Amino acid sequence: MSALNSEIQYLSGVGPKRAALLRSELGVETFGDLLRIFPFRYIDRTSITPIRDARGDLAYVQIQGTVVSSTLIGPGGSTQMAKGGPVEIRAAKRLSVIVDDGSGQMEMVFFKGIKWNYERLKPGSTFLFFGKPSEFNGRLNIVHPEIDNPVAGGTEARGTLTGVYPSTEKLKNGGITGKVMCKLQSAALAMCLPEIKETLPDYILKENALVPLTYALRNIHFPADSYALQKSVRRLKFEELFFLQLSLLKQKYIQSRGSVGLPVTKVGAAFNACYGSLPYELTGAQKRVIREIHNDMKGGHQMNRLLQGDVGSGKTMVAVLSALLAIDNGYQACIMAPTEVLAQQHFANISRYLEPTGVRCALLTGSSTQKERREIHSGLEDGSIGIIVGTHALLEDNVVFHALGLAVIDEQHRFGVDQRAKLWGKGPSVPPHVLVMTATPIPRTLAMTLYGDLDVSVIDELPPGRKPVKTAMISDAKKGTVYNFMRKQIELGRQVFVVYPLIFESEKMDLNNLEMGYEEILKRFPDPDYKVAIVHGQQSAEVKNFNMSAFAVGRAQILVSTTVIEVGVDVPNASVMVIESAQRFGLSQLHQLRGRVGRGADESYCILVHDFKTSKEAKSRLELMCRTNDGFEIAEEDMKMRGPGDLEGTQQSGLPIKLSIASLAKDGLMLNEARVYADKVLNADPSLELPVNRLLAEELRKGKYDMKDYSKIS
Ligand code: ADP
Ligand code: MG
Repeated sequence: MSALNSEIQYLSGVGPKRAALLRSELGVETFGDLLRIFPFRYIDRTSITPIRDARGDLAYVQIQGTVVSSTLIGPGGSTQMAKGGPVEIRAAKRLSVIVDDGSGQMEMVFFKGIKWNYERLKPGSTFLFFGKPSEFNGRLNIVHPEIDNPVAGGTEARGTLTGVYPSTEKLKNGGITGKVMCKLQSAALAMCLPEIKETLPDYILKENALVPLTYALRNIHFPADSYALQKSVRRLKFEELFFLQLSLLKQKYIQSRGSVGLPVTKVGAAFNACYGSLPYELTGAQKRVIREIHNDMKGGHQMNRLLQGDVGSGKTMVAVLSALLAIDNGYQACIMAPTEVLAQQHFANISRYLEPTGVRCALLTGSSTQKERREIHSGLEDGSIGIIVGTHALLEDNVVFHALGLAVIDEQHRFGVDQRAKLWGKGPSVPPHVLVMTATPIPRTLAMTLYGDLDVSVIDELPPGRKPVKTAMISDAKKGTVYNFMRKQIELGRQVFVVYPLIFESEKMDLNNLEMGYEEILKRFPDPDYKVAIVHGQQSAEVKNFNMSAFAVGRAQILVSTTVIEVGVDVPNASVMVIESAQRFGLSQLHQLRGRVGRGADESYCILVHDFKTSKEAKSRLELMCRTNDGFEIAEEDMKMRGPGDLEGTQQSGLPIKLSIASLAKDGLMLNEARVYADKVLNADPSLELPVNRLLAEELRKGKYDMKDYSKIS
């Protein structure tokens, strides 16, 4: 039995209890797994700041001090002296710990983990505290510092840099403290080092100036010095990103060689008729993307392409022209939207574009009548309907195509993998070409990973004459100003969106907010001078559609709603977007919402209303919105602001793979380097069959770098 694969409970110092903890908290099963739990920072024993020298503008400080007092602060805000009874602890809203290091005193504040910290930060005991100092009421404090045992003497660390490992309350309670973790790593290294095998071939190490794996593992846990650490981190990050990209690109190589695609070669009458009667010139980016799509579809392989384009960049036209390419070659096309409202809107627009072509287009949604359905089903089956627009209803089994050649999926993030697979099956005998369109700008590094095996086209140019939306933030204490502004815009004949957040956990409360806001607006904008419509998720589809269209056709000047309008709705006459409790929205959502205005020729506005509780982070999000209209810039900033911790593994990003050391937010350059290099390796040896690449093939076979089928749209 090899040491690397030995069960973790048999490592000296572990045992069954700790093994269970390591498994549940860190996913560690074997010695080898443990070695892949890396420190996320290092304590440099030479850099402890005396409290006297700490300042609020430092990015972080490391303080070593003794607990003087520890105070639980109750719900009423009144200070209760700690008696240690569980009732007081449970009732406490905050824990305040005063620390003294001989040069001064500083407060450590906890809003979470109160019981645990209260019990371990006993007066008289000494700890190392690490965190961002901030000023509060003229005093310095650290909120939720990281806490370690003091470093003076008795540590196991060999160099001056001591690794700090990810930890949890349960781990520490179970005796796996930072110090113990260092000991375990040391034991695991001693057992495993002799049998650790290099994962990268020699030539790759040389060409990329990487240190060997054994060196890297030794020094990432116990750095000889900061230079050794730096080289080790680089090696391990490169390895991770390289294999990730190698795995993705290999799939892509196999797919593009193996798959058969319907031949969509000629540009024919329908395409030309539509193109010739466009009311505007296509942007350069639209033309380029259509060329890319055509090249894909005529290439003999199935197209799997992601089309990214900011809101308003003109993706619909690209979809229509691509569909017409399919039609000119004897196929049908379907265009699928995530909501009924959107499908209707697409249908209306597309029908207009299709007028000069004579191509028959139909709409199929959940509310199509039986009679309509029957007609559509037979039209699709006999091929007389060329383009079908619809919602999930298109996926139903009784929807059968004569010859489906292209499936366009709008706003892909709302569709599950299974659903996409269903579309797949609707091709004649060969699966249709697939074009996924998304208006959610994704940072490049994330796109490279999530869609690493897809081809990506980007419309990076807005139609000419588009004015950026003027954006401002305002405190809700000044709502009067907002109402006045709305009134003026309505006098000019414009329409206004007012959006409220609706977040799952507190749905009831949010709905109350929305209804109160609605009442307030009705009072400020009374009938019959004004008409106000309201739309939210709790309404029936019928009511929702009715109210929505009241606004869309201009019968109502104001639409009060939750984020149901987030996606795609096009009301060119709407020039103002008021977002209530804007601090509660994420950046990408704010950007999507703002994209609902600024579609006509008029100047348009986005007003971000926030309340007094808005945190610093939320403020900086809103400030970013005021500063730029560029969705990609916002996405990049968003990723930086929230950091990899929030992004990776969250629902938001849905990142289907867990990285142990590299970060998509911070290691973009290296990711690029790794991708280019992986591509070079595969170019020379697409199936990794050459003896020099034996190690690579072996490593990939372990499956560590397989993505869940998330990125597969096919
Ligand atoms: P999105 O990419 O958000 O789906 P749309 O396809 O809805 O964007 O296009 C937004 C608006 O821009 C539509 O009203 C459309 O008619 C218009 N549009 C699209 N392409 C151009 C162009 N090249 N020049 C001028 N207007 C355009
Ligand atoms: Mg669109």
